[in-house]
Amino acid sequence: MNHHIIDAIPFQPELADLARRLRVKENSPYLADLQRLRDEAECIARPKAVYKVAFIDARNGDDVIVDGVTLTSRVLRVNLDHVQRVFPYVATCGVELDAWAHAQDDMLFRYWADVIKEMAVRVAMQVAFEAMTARYGLGKTAVMSPGSLADWPLPQQQPLFTILGDVKAMIGVELTDSFLMIPNKSVSGLRFTTEEDFASCQLCPRENCPGRRMPYDDTLYDRKYRFPVSSI
Ligand code: SF4
Repeated sequence: MNHHIIDAIPFQPELADLARRLRVKENSPYLADLQRLRDEAECIARPKAVYKVAFIDARNGDDVIVDGVTLTSRVLRVNLDHVQRVFPYVATCGVELDAWAHAQDDMLFRYWADVIKEMAVRVAMQVAFEAMTARYGLGKTAVMSPGSLADWPLPQQQPLFTILGDVKAMIGVELTDSFLMIPNKSVSGLRFTTEEDFASCQLCPRENCPGRRMPYDDTLYDRKYRFPVSSI
């Protein structure tokens, strides 16, 4: 049994942090509303995550076969050339907080609730990554997520979920027909050890992205990924 489900994750967002993110000033009449939402969220939220250790069976062209499931991406295949085990994961704000956010009937409060959900999924992912690192003694790692690059498009969520098993039963996250996750504040990916720094952002030319973690390198694909592939 290689699955690890983490479903007792404390979530206690700081009011000051929330107020700063949402630009609600200390003397704002809205601060009491924000405190109420924060308090409700703290009671209701059950952020969760699941991850597993999975093993590479084979590599073939742009395919890499993990626990019997084929993932297709040139970039992923090359990034996994020197590892034998990987860590697929899904983390979520949780269905409880998602339902609470949907029940907000004021547009402003619904937006605030969405930001709170975003904070909750970040907490879930951080806890899951810390648990993975401690359990498996991981050093430097990188992640790739389906949909972050044209090379590994969103439909690849399906095989990633297949590797993990019944993600809905484990943590309540399901895929829509268009491969989006519900709750929408959920994240998925494959974590792997690496000698070199890597982030998909290096291969993504999108401008002004608030989530960018590394600069775009317009020569990286040609230098590292565009070459005749081998197989084992
Ligand atoms: S730059 Fe933005 S859109 Fe592109 S991979 Fe990074 S986070 Fe995603």
